Amino acid sequence: MPINVHREVPVDAIEEQNRIAEFLRPRLRERFHTPNPLAMVHTFGCQQNVADGEKLKGILAQMGFSFTGFPEQADLILFNTCAIRENAETKVFGNIGNLKQLKAAKPSMLIGICGCMTEQSHVVEKLKKSYPYVSFVFGSHSAYLLPSLVQCCLDEGKRIFRVAPDDGCVAEGIPAVREEGVKAWLPIMYGCDNFCSYCVVPYVRGRERSRRPERILAEFRELVETGYKDITLLGQNVNSYGKGLEEPVDFSSLLEQLNAVPGDFRIRFMTSHPKDCTHRLIDTIARCEKVCSHIHLPVQCGSSRILKEMNRHYDREGYLELVRYAREKIPGITFTSDIIVGFPGETYEEFQETLSLLREVKYVSLYTFIFSPRPGTKAAKLPDPVRGEEKGRWFRELLALQDEIGLEQMQPYIGQTVQVLAEDWGKVGDGLLQGRTESNLIVEFPGEPSLVGQFVQVKVRSVKKWALLGQLD
Ligand code: SF4
Repeated sequence: MPINVHREVPVDAIEEQNRIAEFLRPRLRERFHTPNPLAMVHTFGCQQNVADGEKLKGILAQMGFSFTGFPEQADLILFNTCAIRENAETKVFGNIGNLKQLKAAKPSMLIGICGCMTEQSHVVEKLKKSYPYVSFVFGSHSAYLLPSLVQCCLDEGKRIFRVAPDDGCVAEGIPAVREEGVKAWLPIMYGCDNFCSYCVVPYVRGRERSRRPERILAEFRELVETGYKDITLLGQNVNSYGKGLEEPVDFSSLLEQLNAVPGDFRIRFMTSHPKDCTHRLIDTIARCEKVCSHIHLPVQCGSSRILKEMNRHYDREGYLELVRYAREKIPGITFTSDIIVGFPGETYEEFQETLSLLREVKYVSLYTFIFSPRPGTKAAKLPDPVRGEEKGRWFRELLALQDEIGLEQMQPYIGQTVQVLAEDWGKVGDGLLQGRTESNLIVEFPGEPSLVGQFVQVKVRSVKKWALLGQLD
């Protein structure tokens, strides 16, 4: 059987968890001596994790919890962790360490750790040995089992570790507690099969598996009916969506189906792997009026030799050809990217190839990282002769160039009118609204709070780093 054949968690297993969640409600009220127990879910890392965090909140709500952002108010604290870089892990351990006093002052508190970090044995060992006040630990494959894990914790009065080295199933039918607003995240697939040599994701999130299109379509319709207007389809590599499903469906045909849903909304997606980003997909984006003309297309590096070392399966020329084709087919399209600086063995000359690629593609913005070795990956074992300070210098050079390019990309918008989905990013009290254009540029403009959630026309007057500044037209 191919590894990525679709498997769903059986419906009765999900229903069993729902029953346990209901059954736990009075027990939890009693344990915490309150009719209204509070949970805090702190999510670290990427949008996929944010979407997982919304599902975890959905399960906790079934168990009777309301939510707080303050750890000192919480009866249950759940850290949904990220393993992508070493400093992400350090941050999580720092946050867990900060809970020691709280737990001592409130022994009934439950502390759970889940997500990508907990799929690594060195992390589990550290949690076992150094953080005895952590009540339960589970990996991303076991998230739907949260009610039974909490039940075990209460029944057995001991710490529970449920980290299954599993390729993972797709758990459907779990409710999500989403952030209020106009934007929603919609996972269409989980895991990754690509094994880029620097990346831990395939080891912690398992092999690639896609959700059935009818499940996605139903959830998408629900989001549109609820009023979400900017819906981002999520997956580690959305371009390979559909592999392993019985029905013949790929990402292009999924986009077509979603684009045909009636309503006033935009569709975004991330992340695209350049090796699977086809001309057919670009033609589909060009045809589908609700699909935004922006692609987050992580190049990682501008040197073909380093791309090979990274196991990315495309080269500089192939990537640039894709960008040229998309520009030809989709006028006004913008690109963003991820860049890793200082991959083991990268020379300064090779790093300069990344800079020249930036000048050629002209990204509107970038997510930039200095290489961080992740245990268990191929790149972590490679000799890495360039010192940290030197990589830091390269990194600053990259940022300075991107600042220039980003600003240059925004200048032509001065005097133009752009459509923006108005949002409240925290400055509404000062009479300022923000939002994004279809091509993912940030726009700031004065406006009434009543405009939040509406598509408005904004005339751009000036630009600043990262944003277009304008007025309602
Ligand atoms: S495509 Fe590569 S970088 Fe992205 S999640 Fe998969 S292995 Fe990691």
